[in-house]
Amino acid sequence: MSDARTAIPAVHRILAHPGLQEALPRHGARACREAVRQAVEEARRAVRDGASAPGVDELAALALTHLWRATAAAYPEVLNATGVLIHTNLGRAPRLAGQLPPYLALEYDLTTGARGERLAPVTGRLVRYFGAEAAMVVTNNAAALVLLLAAHAAGREVIVSRGELIEIGGSFRLPEIMAAGGARLMEVGCTNRTHLTDYDAAIGEDTAAILVAHRSNFHLSGFTTSPGLAELVRLGRRRGVPVWVDQGSGCHLDLRRFGLHREPTVQDLIADGADAVLFSGDKLLAGPQAGILVGRAATIEALRRHPLRRALRPDKSVLTALAATLDAYLAERWLDVPLYRLLATPEQALKRRARRLARRLTAGGVACRVAPCRAALGGGTTPDQTLPSWGLELAGRAHDTAAALRQGAPAVVARVADERVVVDLRAVFPEQDDTLARALLAAAGD
Ligand SMILES: *Cc1c(COP(=O)(O)O)cnc(C)c1O
Repeated sequence: MSDARTAIPAVHRILAHPGLQEALPRHGARACREAVRQAVEEARRAVRDGASAPGVDELAALALTHLWRATAAAYPEVLNATGVLIHTNLGRAPRLAGQLPPYLALEYDLTTGARGERLAPVTGRLVRYFGAEAAMVVTNNAAALVLLLAAHAAGREVIVSRGELIEIGGSFRLPEIMAAGGARLMEVGCTNRTHLTDYDAAIGEDTAAILVAHRSNFHLSGFTTSPGLAELVRLGRRRGVPVWVDQGSGCHLDLRRFGLHREPTVQDLIADGADAVLFSGDKLLAGPQAGILVGRAATIEALRRHPLRRALRPDKSVLTALAATLDAYLAERWLDVPLYRLLATPEQALKRRARRLARRLTAGGVACRVAPCRAALGGGTTPDQTLPSWGLELAGRAHDTAAALRQGAPAVVARVADERVVVDLRAVFPEQDDTLARALLAAAGD
């Protein structure tokens, strides 16, 4: 074999190629060199297997492919065409716009110049909005439960109904979290029926609390019963046992205005006398990822003194986003919160937008059909209910089309149902329609 066929161009020659020179300032010398090294390595293997040596242009193109792959966005933006509004894999509730300034008065009192309390601005808002005595914020709801258990139930028993021993996607299993918090689980009742007398009989010397857990991602129906919270609180008071509610979803307003069933809100549970109610910040509260605890001062204040609190402290971007979200609710501007803007979109508006999109796609030679569909809140909030929506059904091989959409820029994540791709508009913001149309056209052209 002649040298010309086996001689692979040197690394420095490939690095000097205009394509790589252009990428250099953006991605840095180290990443470019690594990409070139990978390309050369591949070429060497190919030559060993009998291929002829590639030229500089070909190797540079291969190196650039490696470079794009290595430097792709860590968390690429996605257009959510799944129809699931609180989509755990897409970041749960859509984020409120707004960026942090470089510095902010995070724990600093600007009037006195003294150190301030980091959580106070946000707990003050939580107390006002939910009508609770006190509030606390940690990194997520699982952490909120661990902190509550560690502070009040370490080495003691917590009573939970067998109908509420939930597992939530992403490795939240109630019995395991209870163990992590150092509490012993005392199961009562049966999967479908737990009576007040079951709780009463289970209370003993070692009982730290009764925990009520929202079923979140499943629905129990048929021959079922469980006591109401007010009844449980009466029992708890009589026996000197606090009642906690892992409410999860953070439902805080009447969902009937969106055509969903009404379910107990955090405010209802506080009014019923729960000692602590805990929930996620990024489900129906539609804020950032956080774990929120509201309730009685005695229960919540003890959490402040626990060493775990420092380990579970939320970041400034979380606190500012949470405060901004609560400000919107306190001012009754809930349509300023992206999730509620999506929820409140009238079905007719979705239909109009679907028609407009379909006209644009058809004009671009992409076969599609306007179709009604059903969206969902998701995130383990209202598992047995759906919302009316409209979307586009795309023709063609569903899994190939869906894959092409995911790999576009921006990525579009659509739903595949019955071998058809459905682009559901319920979780797409109207200002994203133009980008969505272009992404759909581009994917079809691939
Ligand atoms: C979602 C949920 C959790 C977990 O909340 P994270 O914020 O994801 O930690 C816990 N309990 C219930 C009832 C939930 O619905």
